[in-house]
Amino acid sequence: MNKKKMRAVQIKAPGEYSVETLPIPVPGYGEVLVMVKSIAICGSDPGIFSGKVLKNGWPPYYPFVAGHEFAAQVVEVGEGVTDLKPGDRVAGEAHCGCGTCEMCKKGFYNLCLNYGKKEAGHHHYGHSSEGCYAQYQVYDQKALTPLPENVSYDLGTLVDTTGIAYNALRLTGVEPGGYTAIIGPGPMGIAAMILAKALGSATIMIGRGKRLEKAVEMGADVAINFEECPDVVGEVKRITKGGAHQVIEAAGNASAYFESVQMARKGGHVALVSIPGEDGQQAALKTLIMNQITLHGVRANPNCSRTVLNLMSQGTIQMEPLITHIFSIEDIHEAFDTFTGRKDGALKVLIHPNGEGED
Ligand SMILES: [Zn+2]
Ligand SMILES: [Zn+2]
Repeated sequence: MNKKKMRAVQIKAPGEYSVETLPIPVPGYGEVLVMVKSIAICGSDPGIFSGKVLKNGWPPYYPFVAGHEFAAQVVEVGEGVTDLKPGDRVAGEAHCGCGTCEMCKKGFYNLCLNYGKKEAGHHHYGHSSEGCYAQYQVYDQKALTPLPENVSYDLGTLVDTTGIAYNALRLTGVEPGGYTAIIGPGPMGIAAMILAKALGSATIMIGRGKRLEKAVEMGADVAINFEECPDVVGEVKRITKGGAHQVIEAAGNASAYFESVQMARKGGHVALVSIPGEDGQQAALKTLIMNQITLHGVRANPNCSRTVLNLMSQGTIQMEPLITHIFSIEDIHEAFDTFTGRKDGALKVLIHPNGEGED
């Protein structure tokens, strides 16, 4: 049907990618063709592009179009789509469950039992199914959430990161008037900090350098520079008089996984957000048992998009300062270099694949 062409970033082989001209895909039953307006580079994208780091079968084949943090405008709807129409502004989600398995029926479509089975209707966009580093893409309608009028496409790209941070805090719960300790002042950690504050908690950010400074600028109540603090766990316990009520790990290194449990208050909750490498497989089990800590694994952001978009729309959370750079799709290599090299204080680096138009 669509004979038109588009520009898209294709990963050709591990670590090898370029901008190519490809056919615009056609929406099937229950699917929506969108014009991608803004894309955010995710912390997991460099691992997917290199094909080595995550070892989860991402990408599943070559060439492959990755990417999963985006906002877009609906161009065409397939049969069976009733709630979206051309012109609608939407934000995307990576996980689309089959809708019929035990986990999907419970609302945990991030844990769909039909993972990777497109024939069952499952998609993990940008991971097992092709994603948003393109001018156009087709999505299942379940993966799209309307953008509130006053939320821009750029801000809409942050729904993935902010949604995961929200999922972490939903799992730990937030003690009003308590303390949330966050390890790792990257986009995820800062999003968790902003949300925890909005939910009534004081925040302690643990990190170093420019990112720690940025977290303070964006509202962290206390900053601990681990390079200058010989006993981070002791310092958190001292400030909180016994340990943080909830701890969010967003750093992805072995000491962060271990210390996250140690710095929690007795009876406290800890959420692990980063996907560990080989050296991140150990938790402080004795402390976990003796202090009756609850440890939560956090996978993605099921049923979080509407909540975080409403929080953005209502002005309860201010995420704009996370966006530090914007590139065109043709400059994808420079965009990735800026993101991975953390150049000029890079946090969220965006791509505008269709130029600057805002409608
Ligand atoms: Zn992401
Ligand atoms: Zn399912």
